[in-house]
Amino acid sequence: MILEQILLTFLFDLIVSQRTYCQLPDPIFNDGVKNSTWGDSDPSDWNYLNSDEWKTKVVTCGASFQSPINIITSTATKENTFPAINYILKSSTRNYFEAQRDYTKELEGEYDFITAFDLSNSQYKYYARQFHYHSPSEHQVDGKNFDLEVHFVHQAVEDGEQSCNDIRNKLTVFGLLFQYSNTASDYEVFKPWFDDTVNRVTSFDMNDFFQRMTDKTYYHYTGSLTTIPCSQTVNWYVFTSPLPISRTQLKQFKDFLDNDDYFPDKSNNRPVQNLNGRALYKGTASFNGVTSLPVIEASWSIIIQIAMLLIIYIIII
Ligand SMILES: [Zn+2]
Repeated sequence: MILEQILLTFLFDLIVSQRTYCQLPDPIFNDGVKNSTWGDSDPSDWNYLNSDEWKTKVVTCGASFQSPINIITSTATKENTFPAINYILKSSTRNYFEAQRDYTKELEGEYDFITAFDLSNSQYKYYARQFHYHSPSEHQVDGKNFDLEVHFVHQAVEDGEQSCNDIRNKLTVFGLLFQYSNTASDYEVFKPWFDDTVNRVTSFDMNDFFQRMTDKTYYHYTGSLTTIPCSQTVNWYVFTSPLPISRTQLKQFKDFLDNDDYFPDKSNNRPVQNLNGRALYKGTASFNGVTSLPVIEASWSIIIQIAMLLIIYIIII
């Protein structure tokens, strides 16, 4: 029975591991050293008070298409295209794990996918990898910050339908804004983040947010990571109608920023950057709950490996 389970688990992992994520371009460091570990762990290297100096270490942080931005809603043009949100409904069997990050709290894992439009106006599929938060919000809406911004980071994949070479923006990030409300109920998704006895989240549901979002208006532009190395490879979709958050849950996020070494200003938001002529689009997301994980295309070598495993399985049984 145990052997049976091991074989089945191996089979499942073999199929899932076929997902190939499109890699981000290497950051360009001023000292010419590629893949420098600068800023990875030493809080004296960078923080949110010296963000103007990030570009002295990493060239990309001083480039023209940086994030976050102040979204001036009157300047947006309506786009006909829109991201389709295909998050699976409740009870995923996939787990999220808390990642060790110095500058935010982050949950990592593979969840489900969205489809979104790249710079080239082609539609691609992106899989959810992790989500993390900033407080106060990084994006502004008509000059206003909000209490909290959660970033849902999705990465493009190479599969039978799309090639990494064709995809200019390897990441699509949804920015969800939250504002304190004395009538807000707690989000189930956030609870394990602050429970030390939980290290994996077994029932994780993005719809906790999207179903509560009565106004799914988003603003879409092309920008960057908001932390070093500031890679300019992000499709940004910022949902500007803030979701309510309770005092208790907001306090939990704020308390994390109490470490003066990393957060001298008790915040982890990069200041807004210049738009520099970039187009800003406005649209409404289309929400499609799906009830099963998508089938991942298997290559011939995988099919052969699976067949061999099945033969072993039948022989053993
Ligand atoms: Zn972020």
